[in-house]
Amino acid sequence: MPQPRYELVAFDLDGTLVAHHEPIWKTLHERLGTDPAERARVVGLGLSGAIAYADWFAHDVRMLRAAGARRDDVVAIARSLEPAPGARALVEDLRRGGARVAILSGGVDLVLDTVLGGLDFDAVHINRLHFDGAGALSGGEPTPYDRQHKAAGLRALARRFGVATGRTAFVGDGPNDVAAAEVAGLSIAWGDAPAELIAASHHHERGPHLDALRPHLFR
Ligand SMILES: [Mg+2]
Repeated sequence: MPQPRYELVAFDLDGTLVAHHEPIWKTLHERLGTDPAERARVVGLGLSGAIAYADWFAHDVRMLRAAGARRDDVVAIARSLEPAPGARALVEDLRRGGARVAILSGGVDLVLDTVLGGLDFDAVHINRLHFDGAGALSGGEPTPYDRQHKAAGLRALARRFGVATGRTAFVGDGPNDVAAAEVAGLSIAWGDAPAELIAASHHHERGPHLDALRPHLFR
């Protein structure tokens, strides 16, 4: 059995364990037909820091509700996505070898449940969407750990599992992964990562098969 080099391995979801070429929120808004002008306004507020992440999430949920978003719609969009090749086997082998494996994602819980259903993680930090009894989007709960807060998320996971941050590894593909990459004992920029993430990470692997991570994550 391959032996993990790190006691805790945290993964981003969209674009990393799930093959996807754009942020899942962009996909949800476009497929569900929210107002593009309102969306652009909110993205501007969020990226500039004028509103907190939780408020950004609340605006996203409000716009999706106004567009009539339903659980079935989100599941249908998630079903159009695939796991990144090698994702299930990589997570299973890390956990079988004794490593803790966590998700640190600014994506949506239904995508994880739909695309990687049945795969066990030791911890999952992700945005959660809530639906009413008739299946309509009714609200949600934002992750405390996206963007600059992914670093705090990795530290919190390390504390929870009694692992020094130097013994953690993190893999992500987006500009929202930079803070976590700066904290991890080993950070790997994945796939089509932006220059800022590649600069903040120890390694860059282009993929698309996650087996490219194995020489870094196993002895
Ligand atoms: Mg990503």
